[in-house]
Amino acid sequence: MKSWIEISSAKLVENLRAVQSVAGAAVETLAVVKANGYGHDAALVAQTLAGGGARWLGVSDVEEGARVRQTLGHGGTRILVMCGMDLGDAPQIVANGLTPVIWTLEHVGAMDRAARGVGHRVPVHLEIDTGMSRQGVAVGADLDKVLERLAASRWVSCEGVMTHLASAEAGKGSRGVAITEAQREQFAAALEQVRMAGIKPELVHMGNTSAVDEGSTMKWVRDAAKKLGARAMVRTGLGLYGDALAIEGDSTASLRPRLSPVLTWKTRVIGLREIPAGATVGYGATFTATSPMKLALLPIGYADGFRREASSGVGDGWVMVGGKQAKVVGRVSMNLTVVDVTDLAPITMGKEIVLLGDGVSADDHAQWCETIPYEILCGLRAHVHLT
Ligand SMILES: *Cc1c(COP(=O)(O)O)cnc(C)c1O
Repeated sequence: MKSWIEISSAKLVENLRAVQSVAGAAVETLAVVKANGYGHDAALVAQTLAGGGARWLGVSDVEEGARVRQTLGHGGTRILVMCGMDLGDAPQIVANGLTPVIWTLEHVGAMDRAARGVGHRVPVHLEIDTGMSRQGVAVGADLDKVLERLAASRWVSCEGVMTHLASAEAGKGSRGVAITEAQREQFAAALEQVRMAGIKPELVHMGNTSAVDEGSTMKWVRDAAKKLGARAMVRTGLGLYGDALAIEGDSTASLRPRLSPVLTWKTRVIGLREIPAGATVGYGATFTATSPMKLALLPIGYADGFRREASSGVGDGWVMVGGKQAKVVGRVSMNLTVVDVTDLAPITMGKEIVLLGDGVSADDHAQWCETIPYEILCGLRAHVHLT
């Protein structure tokens, strides 16, 4: 195998518990496994998370939801389809026991027809647009229309009301706080409209991992839910996988220090060579040896999610060999990468290499690429198994 990913199920469950304990017992936790579980294999981690006590899982779309449902079986764990739905998806959503996030009259209509078709009521979660301009219905007249339609439906019940924060990682004193406050105000107005429409949701949710870590929004949403006779829920993804963005400004992050990464991405050396001073390495000959070097060849590249920005002279990435750093030399190619093992203890063909894990984190990869750890994790392409 060119490369593979090992997932620690014990650490995954520990991270779930850490999120639950920081969010508080009053708060329901939805474990986000969308985008193939941020590269951790959605079906695999779904089983571990459900076994670890997660009653809710969040997926990207109906196909992913159906896959997760198939591995978990019906009954028990709830699955929220978070990233919108095609109107034509409604029958599949119902057949697979999934719960869609909806926000238009057409969504309600499609779900109503699908539910009528099977003869039982189905739950939906209504998303409010409070400032992302992405998913969700606008507060005010548009929301009233959707609420009226929901209240009139015999087949669709509004189980949850939710929104999503643009700057959840903004802590006290940082620029994003004003955005979060404006979003809370919008959401409060929406919840008041929900109450006035006579709709009684069981769940109210607006926070992700960073909101749990930052804390103030979690407190806010607990109070807001209570006022409606509902329960607050948090939708946590990155935290489960052992990472969290740094909270900006003056904050008292309590979650981030309690998390540990669950994923280790590994490969093996498929070639070894020595080069003299003056030899060049890789496409564009961007690297020239200034002294004799020992190089190891790895069977992975940007096609596998080992990003091209890790090339030397760009992001200057590295891998871990027996607990020591080995720097990338030259450009990362599609399926091959060369690393410098000159100063390491002699290694042999087949030597195991850590591409992401102990000593080289998703945050490190993200820094090489000037991106966020989310993009690194969900871009990995390798066989995943549990340890
Ligand atoms: C992905 C996502 C989350 C999870 O965010 P994390 O930062 O990974 O915890 C929560 N809510 C919504 C709507 C999302 O799309």
